[in-house]
Amino acid sequence: MKRSIEQSAAAGNGAAVFSGPPRRLVILGATGSIGRSCADVILNAPGRFEIEALVGGRDGASLAKTAIALRARFAAVADPTAYGELKAGVAGHGVEVGAGPEAVTEAALREADLVVAAIAGTVGLAPTYAAIAAGRTVALANKEPLVCAGAAVTSAARASGAKLLPLDSEHNAIFQALGGRNAADAVRMTLTASGGPFRDWSLERINAATKAEALAHPNWSMGPKITIDSATLMNKGLELIEAHHLFSVPPERLDVVVHPQSVVHGLVSFADGSVIAGLAMPDMKTPIAHCLAYPDRIASGASALDLAAVGQLTFQRPDLDRFPALRLAMAALRDGGGAPTALNGANEVAVAAFLADRIGFRDIAPLVETVIMQLARADELATPTSVEDALAIHHSARDRAEALLAKN
Ligand code: NDP
Ligand code: MG
Repeated sequence: MKRSIEQSAAAGNGAAVFSGPPRRLVILGATGSIGRSCADVILNAPGRFEIEALVGGRDGASLAKTAIALRARFAAVADPTAYGELKAGVAGHGVEVGAGPEAVTEAALREADLVVAAIAGTVGLAPTYAAIAAGRTVALANKEPLVCAGAAVTSAARASGAKLLPLDSEHNAIFQALGGRNAADAVRMTLTASGGPFRDWSLERINAATKAEALAHPNWSMGPKITIDSATLMNKGLELIEAHHLFSVPPERLDVVVHPQSVVHGLVSFADGSVIAGLAMPDMKTPIAHCLAYPDRIASGASALDLAAVGQLTFQRPDLDRFPALRLAMAALRDGGGAPTALNGANEVAVAAFLADRIGFRDIAPLVETVIMQLARADELATPTSVEDALAIHHSARDRAEALLAKN
């Protein structure tokens, strides 16, 4: 079975060749960590890109600044209460503005050569899915939509012919390591994990971790949700599920290795014993530039990798006892059906509760586990084949997680 991702790998013969007119972009999540890095890459490549539309959540002032800096045609905020700030911020600059879910969808569907999906969380599913269903090439940073509704998203891409470019660093490295070969040729795909701030901590110390400690990632500067997911290692679990859908590989051929230096991002092993790895400095500007210019190459602004300066690249197995969230995600991937969707929904509530000081770090994984068990007992974990089915499980998981929190 051919996947859109493999077709995109062979797109050297297609319309995606970067030359001539500027490439028109839409950026969903323009005010976030990935969105800001996209702006850096774009400003570093004058004349190569035109910004058709930018989308933010509720920070109208910062979206306005980005829209002016990137000369965007249209800027939309999801939260209608941010409209005034956005409108005032772009006054006199000829930027069209909008607010609310319809404006976000309008932005996602504007004529563009590439849509960057970089909203945080499953709220990114609707506009990302709209762009994919409309046949746009989509660079996917936002992993939660794939974890929530992977079957629906990838089948929409096949139906519309949309190309999906993996922007998440591990998946981007694997995509590059595949080099256009069919993903079915790989006997194993390995994602690396930095191990997060608690990599070498004892279980007792991890259990007592504070919010400030969990937010202090050693290698990457990212938005709060993914930073907490990196501390629990849930992020790596979500990424396994993401890889399963993106590359259509079965769970038993996916693997995680802890690699504290975050220089090797992903590896592909072939039947003859060859292993091709993707290396780069830990800077999202590299996979962003790869996706924005694909299949061309442009300067990203990231520092060059100097292996002698790095000195050592080390690897270790993940410890599933100290990081139970990764164990839960691996089990959800193996179990399939609605389990990944439930895991993702419950995890969003658990992480938000931790960030709001409602629960401790040690409570995140048990909350997710209890929700999945409840949904399994209620027979609510059938495989979601449509976005609607996936969102039904997602909201049920969220509601159950909220109900459990309310009991505490
Ligand atoms: P941030 O929290 O930094 O940014 C989130 C972005 O989403 C902001 O632009 C925010 O707008 C916007 N947003 C929030 N809610 C909505 C909404 N309802 N509708 C529209 N936009 C909304 O997140 P990151 O940039 O760190 O991560 C984005 C995605 O990319 C995540 O799925 C993450 O897992 C993935 N990713 C991130 C990496 C990183 O290095 N940061 C690496 C790999 C993947 P506003 O600020 O205005 O509210
Ligand atoms: Mg990643």
